[in-house]
Amino acid sequence: MPVFTHAACLAHDTGSGHAERPQRLGAVIEALRNGFDDLDWREAPRAGRGELLRVHDESLLTAVLEAHPAQPVALDPDTVLSPQSAEAALRAAGAGVAAVDLVLSGEAPVAFCAVRPPGHHATAHAAMGFCLFNNVAVAAAHALERHGLARVAIADFDVHHGNGTQAIFDAEPRVHYLSSHQMPLYPDTGHVHERGAGNVLNVPLPPGTGSRGFRAAWEDRLLPAIDAFRPQLLLVSAGFDAHWRDPLAQLQLEADDFAWLTVELRRLADAHAHGRLVSTLEGGYDLQALRECALAHVGALRD
Ligand SMILES: [Zn+2]
Repeated sequence: MPVFTHAACLAHDTGSGHAERPQRLGAVIEALRNGFDDLDWREAPRAGRGELLRVHDESLLTAVLEAHPAQPVALDPDTVLSPQSAEAALRAAGAGVAAVDLVLSGEAPVAFCAVRPPGHHATAHAAMGFCLFNNVAVAAAHALERHGLARVAIADFDVHHGNGTQAIFDAEPRVHYLSSHQMPLYPDTGHVHERGAGNVLNVPLPPGTGSRGFRAAWEDRLLPAIDAFRPQLLLVSAGFDAHWRDPLAQLQLEADDFAWLTVELRRLADAHAHGRLVSTLEGGYDLQALRECALAHVGALRD
């Protein structure tokens, strides 16, 4: 199975004590390299300017790509731009574009993007919540515009709501956005009544939900909605911060819950999309949980 990553993603420096630190991606890559000897590691290319402009304003490209900071600077209270961040952001978004090209070419049905910074909080206009460019949104727009797909589903199981992804596509019926997330929690969006143009489904979950409630949310609500949409491509915002060890949230999941959901998502990709699925790393802030969850998720993707 192809896995896209780039050394630049490890050089994006958020400063000491920041939760979204290079060691996160280091832990994921190390766990995957040690756990599986058959992964097809590929260097993520840079996203092109036109690919980013499908979902982002010129002003955000300027802020991220042309600032050239000599020292890390804060774009908001959570989000840092370091000297290496522009390159990391280009590679993180480019990974999704390359992975979409790869699965739609028929070369392999499934691909994983082991990248940072994460993406799902970034809006058309603004970097926020550790995210510079919205990697999964850039990938979805590429599938629509370059490949002419009419139905792309984005399943987001990060513990935070993907406010940026939702906002970018909430008037785009060719993309359906489906998310489970803890509420209340940053960024305080993702209420049930937020339905976009009928293409958004949010299932907020209270702190302490645990495996049973999480699986029920997907089994009863989110997976049937994906099934009804019949996506031609399934994209996954794979955050592992709903794990019980994670310091930023309290959803209390186990690594096995991510394996279970990955199998279910693959089943839907098989039913509707010739198996085509691209997963991209979002959050997850405990290194041990990241190792276990990356093994569980990628293990289920490559089976
Ligand atoms: Zn998150």
